[in-house]
Amino acid sequence: MADFDLVVLGGGSGGYAAALRGAQLGLSVALIEKDKLGGTCLHRGCIPTKALLHAGEIADNSRHASEFGVNAQFISMDMVAVNAYKDGVVSKLHKGLQGLVKSRNITYVEGVGRLVSPNTVSVNGENYTGKNVILATGSYPRTLPGLDIDGTQIVTSEEAMAFTHVPKSVIVLGGGVIGCEFASVWNSFGSEVTIIEGLPRLVALEDESSSKQLERAFRKRKINFVTGVRFASATKSAAGVTVTLEDGTTHSADVLLVAVGRGPVTSGIGYEEQGIAMDRGYITVDDKCRTNIPGIWAVGDIIPTLQLAHVGFAEGIMVAEEIAGLNPRPINYDGVPKVTYSEPEVASVGLSTAVAKERGYDVVELSYDLAGNGKANILKTSGSIKLVAQKNGPILGIHMVGSRVGELLAEAQLIFNWEADASDVAQHIHAHPTLSEAMGEAHMALAGKPLHAHG
Ligand SMILES: Cc1cc2nc3c(=O)[nH]c(=O)nc-3n(C[C@H](O)[C@H](O)[C@H](O)COP(=O)(O)OP(=O)(O)OC[C@H]3O[C@@H](n4cnc5c(N)ncnc54)[C@H](O)[C@@H]3O)c2cc1C
Repeated sequence: MADFDLVVLGGGSGGYAAALRGAQLGLSVALIEKDKLGGTCLHRGCIPTKALLHAGEIADNSRHASEFGVNAQFISMDMVAVNAYKDGVVSKLHKGLQGLVKSRNITYVEGVGRLVSPNTVSVNGENYTGKNVILATGSYPRTLPGLDIDGTQIVTSEEAMAFTHVPKSVIVLGGGVIGCEFASVWNSFGSEVTIIEGLPRLVALEDESSSKQLERAFRKRKINFVTGVRFASATKSAAGVTVTLEDGTTHSADVLLVAVGRGPVTSGIGYEEQGIAMDRGYITVDDKCRTNIPGIWAVGDIIPTLQLAHVGFAEGIMVAEEIAGLNPRPINYDGVPKVTYSEPEVASVGLSTAVAKERGYDVVELSYDLAGNGKANILKTSGSIKLVAQKNGPILGIHMVGSRVGELLAEAQLIFNWEADASDVAQHIHAHPTLSEAMGEAHMALAGKPLHAHG
């Protein structure tokens, strides 16, 4: 039996962040992981998909090179080389993370863990006891009844990101973040892509204006999509997969990617037996990520907060600090930045217009078109920065569409989280010509002193 201040079950974003911060604060920490340190984000999520998207961007750049006066042409994708590049990025980060965990003297335990008492996790017949236990077992890709994932014709993101070929045609079931990112990648790689989304719009968690702009951009890129109609069934044949929708229409393609969301990994590992309260499989927690059992905490994709790596990091850090007695502030989930890394990118922080109105704010809006921004013209991207603000008050939400706008979130989230007014931001000088200038211009316009905008 080994005794620790902190036992962390699951070495993904949430778990390893808790372990690293706990160790930094002088706690003795055991971190248990059955697969690879880094979890979904590093090995099957954020990092590999963004590498694929970057390869897609280069493919598109080569297609459009002549628009910039460069003689080049797109010939084909070499998926073996794409995967080597992607795996190289992952492997470098994986090694770095392993080194970091080692350097903080964390006891790293490989194996499947099971919660066998409120303060004990058992791994390979060995018990690890902690004054505190953090559950961080993450999530798995969901499917729908009647859809059997075979890994070749009907796949989830896990198989899709390891494809060694470019499918001729793909149906992407689900127009959320993961679905839109893969649609973007495959379109760039040369596949014919159709997205099927049961909700009325793509990236439905975003402000309606962002969905509209993304849809317009996807149409221009010849990414097909059907919204507002639900999946009914799918049949496979040697020729591919045919999907039938509830309105009777059918769509056929070589491959069907099922991207209908992710479910929490919370069953069969002792959580129920220890009486941990759950709702539809998600562990219920208070605003400091405490479960109903004293000394047991839960972070990341297994709790019903936004399933994002940086949310997992923030929750892990908060819990470690709470355990160490630092009394950190609870997380304001409205202030979490969100990016869909498709081309164009969709990025936001804060409230959409609809949510701000639901919450009773007297809302004013301003949309700054990237057509007025020098750098956007140089990049030949279009889109906008939309501000949602309280009348005579702070910025409530910032919603952006365009190439590389995800990089503008750093400023957007400071504006939101510091409850800045448009006039506070308007006085800051933004470098010219950058995309970030559009952030300054939008706030100048909302503050009543537009520069490169009519009004
Ligand atoms: C395709 C895709 C793209 C994504 N892109 C982004 C993005 O761009 N940005 C972003 O912020 N988020 C992104 N995400 C989401 C992000 O990956 C997750 O929110 C994040 O990984 C959640 O962290 P976690 O620690 O809760 O879980 P995970 O990362 O899933 O880690 C849980 C870990 O627990 C381990 N585990 C489970 N059960 C046991 C057990 N019994 N014993 C021992 N170990 C166990 C697992 O092996 C795993 O390593 C993406 C996800 C996917 C699928």
